[in-house]
Amino acid sequence: MNSIDEKLQPILAEVIRRNAGETEFHQAVHEVLESLGRVVAKHPHYLEQALVERICEPERQIIFRIPWIDDRGQVQINRGFRVQFNSALGPYKGGMRFHPSVNVGIIKFLSFEQTFKNALTGMPIGGAKGGSDFDPKGRSEAEIMRFCQSLVTELHRHVGEYTDVPAGDIGVGGREIGYMFGQFKRLTNRYEAGVITGKALAYGGSCARTESTGYGNSYFVQAMLETRGTGFDGRKVVVSGSGNVAIYTIEKVQSFGGKVIACSDSGGYVLDDAGIDLALLKEIKEARRQRISEYAKAKGASARFVETGRGSVWDIPCEVAMPSATQNELSGRDAAKLIGNGVIAVGEGANMPCTPEAIRAFREAGILFGPGKAANAGGVTTSALEMQQNASRDTWTFEKTEARLASIMRSIHDLCHATAEEYGAPGDYVLGANIAGFVRVAEAMRMLGVI
Ligand code: NDP
Repeated sequence: MNSIDEKLQPILAEVIRRNAGETEFHQAVHEVLESLGRVVAKHPHYLEQALVERICEPERQIIFRIPWIDDRGQVQINRGFRVQFNSALGPYKGGMRFHPSVNVGIIKFLSFEQTFKNALTGMPIGGAKGGSDFDPKGRSEAEIMRFCQSLVTELHRHVGEYTDVPAGDIGVGGREIGYMFGQFKRLTNRYEAGVITGKALAYGGSCARTESTGYGNSYFVQAMLETRGTGFDGRKVVVSGSGNVAIYTIEKVQSFGGKVIACSDSGGYVLDDAGIDLALLKEIKEARRQRISEYAKAKGASARFVETGRGSVWDIPCEVAMPSATQNELSGRDAAKLIGNGVIAVGEGANMPCTPEAIRAFREAGILFGPGKAANAGGVTTSALEMQQNASRDTWTFEKTEARLASIMRSIHDLCHATAEEYGAPGDYVLGANIAGFVRVAEAMRMLGVI
């Protein structure tokens, strides 16, 4: 399919040289540059003033020590990261991830993607991401709190309503956001609600923020299906993961009449032909914080649990696939299996869940493919709506917030669709999203001079 334009090849080579070993970051830059050949051919001025080179270089990267004391009185040390990638469109904005796999390359790829995603929303926000290699699994409430407090003791110097606004991501939900905001407020002696999003409703959060990434991906896929005169109704759907994004994807897809038959966690997947019982899933994952295998135990003979390593959730025949766990979780082999089983649409709930081989296979087979930077933009969209409510000391109803989310997801879909057409690749949402996001950031950067 696409290869990188020869004028852009040296830029990728320099990114790889300068960020040695950061394979996820190389992968993300590669995907964007692959889409830009048509843009620079039509508008060569984007090659001036090292604009593309500057877009591929983070504005600031912060790495710091996070010491904390566990319940046995032992000192633990984790590493904290915040990569403030681009602030041409507004204050840096992006979530924090707590997972043992976190390193600077992963945070860099996430913040690079976030820059274009945020641009696609049309909201005034730049791109950032952060996190730590801290593993919350098996940690007590008190340990989680002490860890969050230690992290913010450093992070508070670098964030602010007009500077950089973190939120949640893998391993960071409402509980962690609360502890982080509490420590920020204490250190700064300011009730600056807009410094972080994903807050609970009790202290300045927005209705629908919890639901927004999963709901948003469902709206995006629904819009893609409509371009082929169809919808979710009666279709079999597989969702990977069983965290925030996965749970609210399942909720919205079910409300659209789709039948979600499987979901997963890092331990394996569950298959329930009758359709996932969402109340039970929420009880296990949100209230009890247990493993997905408990779902199959509770359901008895009607559901099956398959351990990781003994099969892939993508082997299950379905018409719509919504990967919502983590990066590179859906391989070229998985894509071939899905295509063979008759998949018609794929919406990336997670960030970069499909490998380049998988994306190539879906595009070549003409499958409707919604890339994460467009399809999962609902989370940051509602975070920006939370910032708006905080700035105006207002609270909106769930209905009003969801209506704004739905309309912004529709406009992101339409922008990607129209851009792909304009650049001679109708129906190619990867190309549409990369070009539309790039043009918005690049235009602002041109106006701001060489900074
Ligand atoms: P959660 O921590 O709530 O859930 C993550 C889910 O993915 C869990 O079921 C987890 O299983 C599974 N998972 C994580 N890492 C792995 C792994 N290495 N292998 C297999 N399964 C894994 O995170 P979110 O739902 O918030 O995030 C999911 C994805 O969506 C991420 O890519 C995130 O960047 C992206 N995203 C999130 C947004 C948000 O608003 N939260 C916004 C936009 C994108 P286990 O519990 O076993 O680890």
